[in-house]
Amino acid sequence: MTTPIPFDPRIELVGLSRAELAEELVRLDEKPFRAKQLWHWIYHQGETDFAKMTTLAKDFRTKIAETHKVGRPSVATLQTSTDGTRKWLFRLDDFKDVETVYIPENDRGAVCVSSQVGCTLTCSFCHTGTQPLVRNLTSGEIVGQFMAARDSYNEWPTPQDGTRMLSNIVMMGMGEPLFNYENVAKALTIVMDHEGISLSKRRITLSTSGIVPEIERCGEELGVNLAISLHAVRDDLRDELVPINKKWPIHELLEACRRYPTSSNARRITFEYVMIKGVNDTDADAHELVNLVRGIPAKINLIPFNPWPGTAYECSSNNRIHKFADIVNAAGYSSPVRRPRGRDIMAACGQLKSASERAKKFSDRETAVTP
Ligand code: SAH
Ligand code: SF4
Repeated sequence: MTTPIPFDPRIELVGLSRAELAEELVRLDEKPFRAKQLWHWIYHQGETDFAKMTTLAKDFRTKIAETHKVGRPSVATLQTSTDGTRKWLFRLDDFKDVETVYIPENDRGAVCVSSQVGCTLTCSFCHTGTQPLVRNLTSGEIVGQFMAARDSYNEWPTPQDGTRMLSNIVMMGMGEPLFNYENVAKALTIVMDHEGISLSKRRITLSTSGIVPEIERCGEELGVNLAISLHAVRDDLRDELVPINKKWPIHELLEACRRYPTSSNARRITFEYVMIKGVNDTDADAHELVNLVRGIPAKINLIPFNPWPGTAYECSSNNRIHKFADIVNAAGYSSPVRRPRGRDIMAACGQLKSASERAKKFSDRETAVTP
């Protein structure tokens, strides 16, 4: 049985590019310059109610409200961890759910944004990869997650002095962002626009499992920070952990990293490496890791494996992780061990899988559609 889509024929403005917004206004017989004013209300002021957009003519406000809307994904659940990490389960217009996490630090914090419902890929250690129903998020749904997170911290209008709690975006939620490149690029372009949310590309990190052809585009067109989910130093093991490796093996991936524009200046590429007991965590693995990334301005992020119900993998011991980190450090690479955040609310890396999917897991296994 399919779930009925709620009938709201109005066109969503969040997620349209500036040019597309201007086109909508032309369709309403308005001058395209109004797009600049509207953009400011939507992305600088964070206003969702046309009636309150007081610099716009009253007639225009009434007219546009009949055919268009400025929405947010609706909040299905909101949980806050004992460590302050916050997780939203957003319900989209077609009743699909997607998760977003905010990780606060003292005077700033990163919003971990999803790019897909589920994930096109099936990395063996990742909970998101076990979700059967997958679709790409629209640009509006991607920006909308960040905007809704900002609503709950009252960070509108965009602070001009640079002080904001929601200061960074990491594309590390559910999904493979480079398999939804067009929409992710459009969303990040909106987020970086100086007359709106105005987040610098230096505050945005995109994490990929290694979609080689799109890495180049991402560097040229967006120039955001790049994080690579490496996780293994040999192709036979990486084929198992990150199966997309069969298509783009380690040496091709590292070549793409060497060509990535940010690696030529002070910024570094982050290599993520999940520590799994007895699988990828030996001293020899650590030595090979530093050999592989040699020559690339790199930072190595060791992530303790976060277990989830049903996984056969275990996290490496603290001792093992620190010995591994020592080898990487001794070779001259900064290798912070990422402290898991929000574990108590299943908000840590690789644990995202919408709650409703988890609940449904056993009830509709037979009817689930595998893409
Ligand atoms: N699909 C992208 C971004 C989302 S995953 C990617 O794979 O890079 C974000 C990070 O969490 C990736 O580095 C991913 O490999 C890691 N991850 C996935 N499952 C994990 C788990 N159970 N424990 C720790 N990290 C995990
Ligand atoms: Fe997808 Fe990333 Fe999880 Fe792999 S690790 S299944 S690419 S979300």
